Amino acid sequence: MNTLARTTAEQVKVFCALIGADPLLVQGAGGNVSWKDGNVLWVKASGTWLAESTTKDIFVPVDLAHLRQAIDKKDFSATPKVDGDSNLRPSIETYLHAVMPQHVVVHLHAIEVLAHLVHDNFQADFQSLLDESTPWAVADYYKPGAALAAEINAVLIQKPTVKVIFLKNHGVVIGGADVAEVSQILSRLTQALSTRPTYIRHPSHPMPVTVQNLMDQYAPVANLDIHQLAVDPSLFKRLSSDWALYPDHVVFLGPRAYAYRTWEALNDGEKPAQDLPELVFIYSEGVYVKPSFNKAKQVQLRCYYDVMIRQNTHSTMSVLTDIQIAELLNWDAEQYRINLAK
Ligand SMILES: [Zn+2]
Repeated sequence: MNTLARTTAEQVKVFCALIGADPLLVQGAGGNVSWKDGNVLWVKASGTWLAESTTKDIFVPVDLAHLRQAIDKKDFSATPKVDGDSNLRPSIETYLHAVMPQHVVVHLHAIEVLAHLVHDNFQADFQSLLDESTPWAVADYYKPGAALAAEINAVLIQKPTVKVIFLKNHGVVIGGADVAEVSQILSRLTQALSTRPTYIRHPSHPMPVTVQNLMDQYAPVANLDIHQLAVDPSLFKRLSSDWALYPDHVVFLGPRAYAYRTWEALNDGEKPAQDLPELVFIYSEGVYVKPSFNKAKQVQLRCYYDVMIRQNTHSTMSVLTDIQIAELLNWDAEQYRINLAK
């Protein structure tokens, strides 16, 4: 590796740690970053957190020439060849990074952008919100992985000079000559697209679980703001209509929200404790989780809250279809019906 490449690697890692610490830019293991060094694509490893880029090995070197050969054949599912003996697995979005021509590529689920991408008409809004300084394009919703990479490739064939691609119901991809350019584009976008969150008054203390035999099962979520998802009538209503909005949300928090008017409605006495949902919303009481609700899920819940408080009360949102949800969970149609009925 030459000196310049080392410099890029260090710059990328510092940048990743910075954006990884901002929940409005990165949520848990979501998002990924890459840089190209000759015939090597350094890409974030699957399951690793951008926030840990300076303290852990999160990047894996992949044979870029091999990826490009596959792309030429429109094969976006050939297993990437890892250089050396890294036992990290390259991100599922490795091909998305390889098809982008720029040196440094960042893919994020940045809240200020995502809050728009969950609307059918976001493209028209962006035309008035964004200036001409950064050429952009839009990719339709596809399942992350091969299908999404194929869509990005098709977008780039139509518009080869774009540096920003907005992914409907998903996130944004930004390419730049270096970290500085990518970082500048990201700040410009998040500023231009920022929405003032609805004023939310959070409860001043966590509410205890009120039903005797559920006290051992559930605890209120620690972040007091998040309880508004159950306490605010319009946010509570949206749990049923506007839940499955983007891939990570469905993968981590499931295909539907378990929202109940009362504790009694959840606890009909028929279900054994282990079959009760991990995350429940009880109207006017709050949001409650079982102890197994881990950090990755907590950050996804926060992400959903951050997206929802940026919506107009009356705006219509675009949710993923049942087929798209099943595909994300790798369920076949039958499994989907069974699991959804639970
Ligand atoms: Zn993504």
